Amino acid sequence: MGDTPAAASYCAGDLRYAGTGAVEEKKLGDNTSGAARGPVSTLRRIAFLMERQREETRRIEAFRNAARTILPLPEDEVRRRAEAGTLTELAGIGPSTAAVITDACNGVVPERLVALERTAGPLARGGEELRARLRGDLHSHSDWSDGGSPLEEMAMTAMELGHDYLVLTDHSPRLRVANGLSAERLSRQLGVVEAVNEHLGGSFTLLKGIEVDILDDGALDQTPEMLDRLDVRVASVHSKLKMDAAAMTKRMIGAVRNPHANVLGHCTGRLVTGNRGVRPQSQFDAHAVFGACAEEGVAVEINSRPERRDPPTVLLELARDLGCLFSIDSDAHAPGQLDMLDHGAARASEAGIDPDRIVNTWKRDRLLEWASARL
Ligand SMILES: [Zn+2]
Ligand SMILES: [Zn+2]
Repeated sequence: MGDTPAAASYCAGDLRYAGTGAVEEKKLGDNTSGAARGPVSTLRRIAFLMERQREETRRIEAFRNAARTILPLPEDEVRRRAEAGTLTELAGIGPSTAAVITDACNGVVPERLVALERTAGPLARGGEELRARLRGDLHSHSDWSDGGSPLEEMAMTAMELGHDYLVLTDHSPRLRVANGLSAERLSRQLGVVEAVNEHLGGSFTLLKGIEVDILDDGALDQTPEMLDRLDVRVASVHSKLKMDAAAMTKRMIGAVRNPHANVLGHCTGRLVTGNRGVRPQSQFDAHAVFGACAEEGVAVEINSRPERRDPPTVLLELARDLGCLFSIDSDAHAPGQLDMLDHGAARASEAGIDPDRIVNTWKRDRLLEWASARL
């Protein structure tokens, strides 16, 4: 935030507009472009709408970086630079982001945003009622591991979406390709999460979490001491997805029986579409694995990412029939992807899952009580 009163009021006004803009349009299902926004809000809105369409993170970051660059500047300076054509002298602002800022300063909605706003409705049909009951999200990544944005940006967007809580679940140490967090880095991250929460004032909470790798033998890839310090833990298989069914079943049940596990993430590991290509689902005894989840009170994740759609429908229905709890998660790697919950809500709704068995329809205190019940 800016240091001068002028900057502070400019930032606050702009951010407030960014917030109500996103939430109002969501509630109203309004696809129209609406009135012009301030420059920071315009840049963030463009980034948000690009992300929920899963456009490439690198292209989107230009808009977020530009927003960060002008956020601390007084409104007068931004306006003056827009008029003089000198915005591109600022670090992180190129010709296309400068054009967006200039339009916003002139009270014009940039063409780019007009086009994007046409895509702004629900991402999926059929789950709207259930989606409206979701109070938060249990699976998200920041740039501490393989996400594209700082954790405070994830928190701010979750607030704008109307969430009461977001669990930050960056990867565990063994997942080196995703810059998984050592115990030491995770410990540092927890300090940052606490600081962010202090600033947020209580109506929204960024919860401490992890997406912890399920190792080959079913153990979890983080120290019990660190896992104890977290609010919610998602356990997922990310390696040796092709191990034989008996070994995979034992591995997954081992993780589910671990009192630290709260959510079984993207259980089959399949990829059905997208730029990473397709990948078949892992083989395991789903009856045994979901049976263990039901016994232990571990939620089966409904992973909302369109390229995952995990679990497949047959398995989703099996978990439903075995009495499992569920968690509809975005697995967002960028702020706009937090909106992908629409997809998971549509699938859960289609499968006729009782909303009270979906843990992220619960209030924060009930969620936290559940997540620590086996410790
Ligand atoms: Zn994962
Ligand atoms: Zn993940």
